[in-house]
Amino acid sequence: MQWLKEIFKVKLKEFKENKLAIVEIFNSISGEGISAGELVTFVRVAGCNLRCSYCDSTYSYQEFEAEHSRLKPAEILTELSKFASQKIICTGGEPLEENKAKRYLALYLAAQGFEVRIESNGSFPVYNTEEFNAFGGVELRTKLAYTLDVKSPSSAMAEQNIYRENFQKLGINDELKFVVANENDFEHALKVLNKEAEILAVNEVTINFSPVFGQLEAKELVRLLKSKEAFFVAKQLKPRLSLQLHKMIWDAEQKGV
Ligand code: SF4
Repeated sequence: MQWLKEIFKVKLKEFKENKLAIVEIFNSISGEGISAGELVTFVRVAGCNLRCSYCDSTYSYQEFEAEHSRLKPAEILTELSKFASQKIICTGGEPLEENKAKRYLALYLAAQGFEVRIESNGSFPVYNTEEFNAFGGVELRTKLAYTLDVKSPSSAMAEQNIYRENFQKLGINDELKFVVANENDFEHALKVLNKEAEILAVNEVTINFSPVFGQLEAKELVRLLKSKEAFFVAKQLKPRLSLQLHKMIWDAEQKGV
């Protein structure tokens, strides 16, 4: 496997020389999921391979927009040094897009000592051992956490998801996010969970259900969750309602908050 190590060394060297397209870097509270309410710094990378019907960050779709900053990894560190938090949420766009330098930003930041949560749309593989080794070793996994979307039918992107291949690499600090617009989405989520329950239960992965803002009332999602309580208990899954705090605190369209 020496040749593989060499390839990743080259990638790492190249990575540090790349200018990454960054939409925004700002500090705020985490808006949702396990980390909701925590003070964190967001790094939003540009470019997404999907086009979800309900996307609320369309401004990050394109990688090559004039208004995005072009920053080398060391320059991103300089920006991050303006904030005290050691907790980063690396979001997008899509931060794990393969064959792009931005895929390695979260690993690079973890190797610098930050705690990094990666918010991914779930359509790319999570990091493999070779990638960890290229940035310092598999122990970096303890500095990283994943929030992986599982796309619903109403997103029109449900076919893009990677399921078991990713789920088997998740752990207790990781989470799935089902964004639900209607009962059909909820039923789809249950089908996925029914199939993958064992690995998710063993790995103690948190399962978030989040209503599409403006399309499904939170209380309706709670009703649906309650109606399947026996299923979640039987499958030993950890479901929870996740609301987007930032949309309650600020205007739903406001950026950088
Ligand atoms: S994956 Fe996220 S950023 Fe990409 S289109 Fe879907 S909601 Fe928008």
